[in-house]
Amino acid sequence: MLRNVSRRDFLKTSAAVAAAVYVDLQLAASGQGAVTAPEKRWFKGNLHMHNQWSDGQPLPEWAIDWYKTHGYHFICPSDHNIFQSEDLRFDGFGFKNPPPDLAAFQGETSLWKVISPSPGWPKLTQAIVDETIEKFGKDSVRTITVDGQTYVRMKPFSELEKQFAEPGKFLMIPGYEQTGGCPNGQQVHVNFINVRDVFPYLEADTPREILDQTWAMGVDAYGEQDYLFLANHPLWRYYDYSPADLIALPQIRLFELNNNDIAGGFDAHPQGWKPEKFWDVVNAYRAAHDQQLLLGLGTDDRHSYDSAPKAWSVVRAAELGAKELVAAIAAGDFYASNGLDFEEIQFDGKSLSVKIDVREEGPYRILFLGTKKDYDPASQVVEVEKGARCPARKIDVYSDSIGVVLDTVDGTEGSYTLKADDLYVRANIVKVAEGLQPDWQSQPAAWSQPYR
Ligand SMILES: [Zn+2]
Ligand SMILES: [Zn+2]
Repeated sequence: MLRNVSRRDFLKTSAAVAAAVYVDLQLAASGQGAVTAPEKRWFKGNLHMHNQWSDGQPLPEWAIDWYKTHGYHFICPSDHNIFQSEDLRFDGFGFKNPPPDLAAFQGETSLWKVISPSPGWPKLTQAIVDETIEKFGKDSVRTITVDGQTYVRMKPFSELEKQFAEPGKFLMIPGYEQTGGCPNGQQVHVNFINVRDVFPYLEADTPREILDQTWAMGVDAYGEQDYLFLANHPLWRYYDYSPADLIALPQIRLFELNNNDIAGGFDAHPQGWKPEKFWDVVNAYRAAHDQQLLLGLGTDDRHSYDSAPKAWSVVRAAELGAKELVAAIAAGDFYASNGLDFEEIQFDGKSLSVKIDVREEGPYRILFLGTKKDYDPASQVVEVEKGARCPARKIDVYSDSIGVVLDTVDGTEGSYTLKADDLYVRANIVKVAEGLQPDWQSQPAAWSQPYR
């Protein structure tokens, strides 16, 4: 169908509309007028990020503009337990600054935050306001001063969408980060994506209870809506929930494989799992029990924007729309990346074939990973006492027979055919360099979803 243009060039075309017109012209020229299914293409995005609506550093428009001007097609501004609605308010996650009287805010809308005289996380400072004024002009930021305190208005989602969204080019998906925790300090965070209603902070005795209750609240509140439930950063801050929790909750289909490369607030335990192992432990069990596999997303979860993001996801869809992207992610048609791109990922029920989108000189390697049917599912518990470098935790330790290399291809194209004793297969592509890490910390790399 795409004569005279390689698939790779086609995928790189930035304007889907232009590409569609080109295809139509080709069809017309060749006399084939038949209607074909719309061509799918890859869209790069980030579904986990913060700004001053909760505890992120920049004002919302500064943060969103960053993604729009750095090659992203879609984002979800996912602040903690808050949606960027028009309701007038003065408090949120980590701050509460109501004015002594509301007279000055008569008829006003949205969230207002006080400029702090001193810096520190997650305060709003004059320097943060100034960087936005510098970028968008002095009329871009609204302030009201009461009793010597200056309040700054945060733009609501509706205004941000009007300012930044462009059909076919840049999409803003509503959502938020549902934040909860246990009495011992274990934190359980979940992103609800493509929703606008928010639950308050949730506390329960165990991470599993929080995940279970949060899932049920989502089903109750959002019902038939097209939304995603993303279980965030299992390793942050320090083994906050375990693969056993997602084995117990097979309804959870999506987790953060790569949360901006964050290993946790503390050093990972030498025997403890890392996110890629977490993924394989859950999927070995699910495949062995004929359940749907867990999908792995990459996000940057940035609060400070001082350094470049270390993770994102690329989704294959026919159109840049929230409904289409949510459906594609739910179907597993995406990959997580920290620097490399797949040109092609195809699974025909037996063989997984991948091709690397080569943008700079290699060498490249494709690792096909999975778990065999005779793997050892047993786990042992390591009890870690509270120390200077970590809180007290029980860590599940799993066998080396989970998540093994099934085949290695040196090059940019390869395929793997499932054998009778394989439970599933996934592909990890890396650029070969000295000091290459063997797991999710390798960089640049990208991770396909698992297939069975
Ligand atoms: Zn979080
Ligand atoms: Zn977050």
